[in-house]
Amino acid sequence: MARIYNFSAGPSILPEEVLKQAASEMLDYQGSGMGVMEMSHRSKVYDGIIKHTEEMFRKVMNIPDNYKVLFLQGGASTQFAMVPMNLLAKSGKADYVLSGNFSTKAWEQATKLTESGAFPGTISVAGSTKEENFKRIVRQDELKLDPSADYLHICENNTIYGSRWSYTPDAGSVPIVSDMSSCILSEPVDISKYGLIYAGAQKNIAPAGLTVVIIRDDLLYDPMPGTPIMLTYAVQAKNDSMYNTPSTYSIYMAMLVLEWIERTGGLAAMKARNEEKAKLLYDCLDATDFYQTAIVPENRSMMNVTFRTASDELDAKFVKESAEAGMSNLKAHRATGGLRASIYNAMPKAGVEHLVAFMKKFEKENS
Ligand SMILES: *Cc1c(COP(=O)(O)O)cnc(C)c1O
Repeated sequence: MARIYNFSAGPSILPEEVLKQAASEMLDYQGSGMGVMEMSHRSKVYDGIIKHTEEMFRKVMNIPDNYKVLFLQGGASTQFAMVPMNLLAKSGKADYVLSGNFSTKAWEQATKLTESGAFPGTISVAGSTKEENFKRIVRQDELKLDPSADYLHICENNTIYGSRWSYTPDAGSVPIVSDMSSCILSEPVDISKYGLIYAGAQKNIAPAGLTVVIIRDDLLYDPMPGTPIMLTYAVQAKNDSMYNTPSTYSIYMAMLVLEWIERTGGLAAMKARNEEKAKLLYDCLDATDFYQTAIVPENRSMMNVTFRTASDELDAKFVKESAEAGMSNLKAHRATGGLRASIYNAMPKAGVEHLVAFMKKFEKENS
C-alpha cells in the first residue's frame, strides 16, 4: 500500500484508522449482512447509526441541549441560501463580514435572493478586508453592526486565503451564523456564542455529501414565504434530518471520525496536535525570506497554511517536486495562486515534518 501525504483542501485526508474500520465493515456492518451504503435509512440498524452520530457530535463538541444537530446535503454552498431564506423572516436584515472567498460567496447569494424581490430584505457588509487582499480579519472595533439584524454571518476559517478569526465577534443579541467548514472539530468551540454553525463534511468530518448544521432552537421559526420545504430548517429538525434520504454513508463515516477523535483525547487534544503541526510549518516559513506568507500572524489559519516563493515558475517547480517526494495537492486555489498546505485533523505530524524537510531542501537547491 502506497499512501502519500495528501494536503488537499477538500475533499481531504481521512484518518487511516477510520478508513480501515470502514473497509472492514464494507460488506457486512456488524452482522447485519449488508454494508451501510446498502441499508434502508429507515431500518433499525441505520437508525442506530444516525442517532449515535448525533450523540457523538453532542459529546465531542459539547453541544448544549437547546441546539439541534441536522444532517443535510448540498454542501456549505447550499447554506449560503438556506440561511437567508430561513432567518431573514423576522426583520429582513442581515450583516455579513467579508473575509475571503466563501464569505463573499455567502454574501453574494444572500444579496441575490433579496435583490430579486422574491425574498425581500437588506443585506449589509458589516466589515471587509478585501482592500487589503484579505490578509487579516476585521477587528471588533471596525465592525458596523445593526442591533436589529436577524443574524451576523461570518466565515470562521478562510480555506483559500489561509486566515481565521482570532476572536468571536460580540454581536449583542444578534445571532452569529458561522461557516466552520474548514475548521470544525479542529479545536473546542463555545457553541453557546453562536446561533447557527454549518460545515460541509469533506474537510474535517467525513467524505463529501453531508452538511452538518448546529442550530439554536429559537432560530427554528417559519422561513420566508416561498422557501422550499427541503430547505426549511424547522422541517429538517422536526423530521430528524429524515424528511428525505439523508447522506447515509457520509453520516456513518462522520460517526467513525468522531469516535476516533474521542478515542484520541477529544477536541482539546486535537487542538494541541493541530497547534503543534501548524507551528512546525509557520516556524519554517518565518525562518526564511525564501517563502512568503501573506496573512498577519494573529489571523493565521491552523488548518490551511498559504505561502509562496518568489515566482510562479518556482511555485510550479515546488508542486512538481513535492509530488515526486510523496506529497500531493500543495498547489493553492486559483483565486490566490501560490502554495497551500491543508493540515486537517487527519494529517499526521509526520506528514508535516516530511513537508518541512522538503521545504528546507527545496530552498537550499533554489536560492
Ligand atoms: C469548502 C468550503 C465551502 C464550500 O463547501 P461545499 O460543501 O463545496 O459547498 C464553503 N465554505 C468554506 C469555509 C469551505 O471551506
